[in-house]
Amino acid sequence: ILKKLLLLGMMSTINSQIDFDTASLVAGEFGIELEQKIEKTAEDILIEEAPDLEEQLQKRPPIVTIMGHVDHGKTSLLDKIRQSKVTEGEAGGITQHIGAYQVELNGEKITFIDTPGHEAFTAMRARGAQVTDIAIIVVAADDGIMPQTVEAINHAKSADVPIIVAVNKIDRPNANVQKIMQELTEHDLLPEEWGGETIVVPVSAKTGEGIDKLLEMILLVAEVQELKANPDRLAKGTIIEAQLDKGRGPVATVLVETGTLRTGDTIIAGTAYGRVRAMVNDIGQNVSEALPSQPVEVIGFSEVPVAGDILHATPADKLSKQVAEERKDKQKAEILKKMTKVSLDDLFNQIAEGQIKDLNIVIKADVQGSVEAVRQSLEKLSNDEVRVRAIHCGVGAITETDVMLASAANAIIIGFNVRPDNMAQTAAEREKVDIRLYRIIYKAIEDITAAMKGMLEPEF
Ligand code: GDP
Repeated sequence: ILKKLLLLGMMSTINSQIDFDTASLVAGEFGIELEQKIEKTAEDILIEEAPDLEEQLQKRPPIVTIMGHVDHGKTSLLDKIRQSKVTEGEAGGITQHIGAYQVELNGEKITFIDTPGHEAFTAMRARGAQVTDIAIIVVAADDGIMPQTVEAINHAKSADVPIIVAVNKIDRPNANVQKIMQELTEHDLLPEEWGGETIVVPVSAKTGEGIDKLLEMILLVAEVQELKANPDRLAKGTIIEAQLDKGRGPVATVLVETGTLRTGDTIIAGTAYGRVRAMVNDIGQNVSEALPSQPVEVIGFSEVPVAGDILHATPADKLSKQVAEERKDKQKAEILKKMTKVSLDDLFNQIAEGQIKDLNIVIKADVQGSVEAVRQSLEKLSNDEVRVRAIHCGVGAITETDVMLASAANAIIIGFNVRPDNMAQTAAEREKVDIRLYRIIYKAIEDITAAMKGMLEPEF
């Protein structure tokens, strides 16, 4: 084995460790096939997702997002739809703004995301959550396709979400539906009326005209999509809103994607975990279960989850805390990785990326006169992009305290005719603080000027 490793260019001893790829390469040389056993993490055990069987799947309501240009009537439309179609039989409930609501048409439910615009849609997609089945693009009939309309169309298209166009404000005297249809064709949305595939519904959020037609069309598109979920399993959903409520603690609106969420269920969403203490639906009623596509406000999280986080109901509650803690550690590690320390070698890139606006420096020199001279000449290098700022100056060797200060302030250390002591050296390596030593002021100025321009010669 050692000989084979040597032929692969690896000097190893009988005590060396090798990775799986190398091991399987060497084993292959001997005609042996290796199999890698990957240990399950707590997360894998906690969130085990068995695939659903076809017969377990049941029809679920479509989830709809309304997007479009500002002032074209997104909010008005959401309000009007809700007013006119409060879930039949549940009328009388007080409408509750929980981030999404359901309406009913001919016994069929539709879920609307209650935050208009594509910001929420994009923010959630950025987190890997896609909760929208159908996008309604609103265009004001007396205006036309505007920049945000185009953005909305592009977002829906890139997410592969079918589009229905609602041409709004048709009650206005200067409404011109034909003109809007013409503009739609210019954006690859050929109206059905003209032989295309895009459903266009003229509506008025003011009078309510066309609203029923719009809902019918939503149900029609949903029918084609065959939206299904398995209600007989532990719930999985998306956090669509969350906040800290003074009286109730962390509160989050969950849109159930599949399964049924029940009070008492153990839950985890991002780094928040807990147990469903209570659930409130979109008309302010306490409910004990939430079905697929149903939005509910959930109380019982350990902390406020983040919108876009995926919620899982889980069987064991002992593990959920552990998994949440592990996720937290992972998050911290990622943040730390992003917080790269400033260094002269990389200064130009960091400036260019906008990560640095102040170049903080700590100056240590052998005599007070030099400290001042170095400080003044370096601060003079400030330009429009970066301000060079001496955050600490002193006489004497570079100490561990200097390093810790530089680390906290993301500064580099300039030593003039001085050296770091042993403790400082170790600390600098640990904290990744860049220490530069000079004997001539001019050389320090030259280096920093070059670094700011991205022309510092690499140090060997
Ligand atoms: P959003 O920015 O897209 O949410 O638009 P809003 O819903 O806030 O509506 C912008 C303005 O248009 C408001 O003054 C509404 O009253 C008005 N508006 C919205 N829909 C209609 C409509 O169908 N007819 C008329 N006449 N006005 C409307």
